[in-house]
Amino acid sequence: MDVRTLDCNYTEEEGVAAAYLLVDHDEAAFVETNTNHAVPRLLRALEDAHLAPEQVRYVICTHIHLDHAGGAGLLMDACPEARLLLHPRAAPHAIDPSRIVAGATAVYGERRFAELYGAIRPVAETRVDALDDDATVPFGQGELRFLHTRGHANHHFCVRAGDGIFTGDSFGIAYPGLQTRGRFVFPSTTPTDFDAEAAHASVDRILASGAERAWLTHFGEVRDLEAIAGELHRQLDDYATLVEEADTSGREGDALEAFCGERVGALFAAELDRHGLGSSAFLHLLDIDIDLNGQGVAFAVKKRRFKRAH
Ligand SMILES: [Zn+2]
Repeated sequence: MDVRTLDCNYTEEEGVAAAYLLVDHDEAAFVETNTNHAVPRLLRALEDAHLAPEQVRYVICTHIHLDHAGGAGLLMDACPEARLLLHPRAAPHAIDPSRIVAGATAVYGERRFAELYGAIRPVAETRVDALDDDATVPFGQGELRFLHTRGHANHHFCVRAGDGIFTGDSFGIAYPGLQTRGRFVFPSTTPTDFDAEAAHASVDRILASGAERAWLTHFGEVRDLEAIAGELHRQLDDYATLVEEADTSGREGDALEAFCGERVGALFAAELDRHGLGSSAFLHLLDIDIDLNGQGVAFAVKKRRFKRAH
C-alpha cells in the first residue's frame, strides 16, 4: 500500500491540514477530505497517480469535524463508485449536515464559516457505511481496520492500514514548522466532546495497535509514537486539572470562557518555552488552536455541571 500525504492548504496555510491518498494495486481511497476548497487538489493527486475517480473505492473521514469531512459530499459526487466510511455516530451527519453546520457556525461565526467551508453537500444514505469498533473492510491486497477513539470527539475513529494508523485528531497536533526543537505536539480539546480520560485511553489504544507510524491530519507522518504518547499524556493531565479547577471556580458564561481561554493560553506558552519556540513562524496558527481548546474546556465544564445537576 502506498500512502501519499496531500497538503490541503487549509486556512490558506501550508502544513496545517492533510488528506491522504491510499493506493493498493488498482484501488484508491482517501482518508480525510478537508473542505470543499481542497477537493480539486485531491482529484489532481488522483490524476498524478494515474488513477481514475472510478477507482476510488472509499472516502474515509476520521470524524465529522469540517476540516476532516467538509469536502466529503463534493468528493463523493466526483467519485461515483466510492463508499463513504464513517463512525456510526458520524454517518447521520454526512447524510444530513444541518446540525454540524449549525454547530460550526456557532464556533466560527457565519462569515468565517462561509469562507472556510462554503456549502456542505449531503451524501446519499445508500452510499454511506457506518463502521463498528474493530470492523474491517477489504482494500487492495489487504484490509483497513477501524478503531473507535473517543476523547476529541465521540464520533471519531482511527484507521489501521498496513504498518501505520491514521489518527485524525486522537493523537495530537504537530505542525511541521514547530518541530525544529524536538517534538512539539499538543492535544486538540475542541468543542463539544472533549473528555480527558477518554483521550488518554485513545492514545494508549493507538500505541497498542502495533502501528509503526501514525499519519496525523495536523500534520503528516510521524514515527516516534511512544514519545508523542508521553507528551500527550502529560498535557492531557494538565487539561484534566484545568477542567477541575474551572468547574470548582464557580465561574459561568463569559467569565468561564475567559478563564479557560487564559489558562489554555498559559499551558501553550509553557509548552513553547520548553521548546524555545518563541519566534516560530507558525505561532499565529496557535492562536486558533488556543481559542478552540479554550472553548472546548469551557464546554466540558458546562457538560459536567449539567450531568451533575440532572
Ligand atoms: Zn476534530
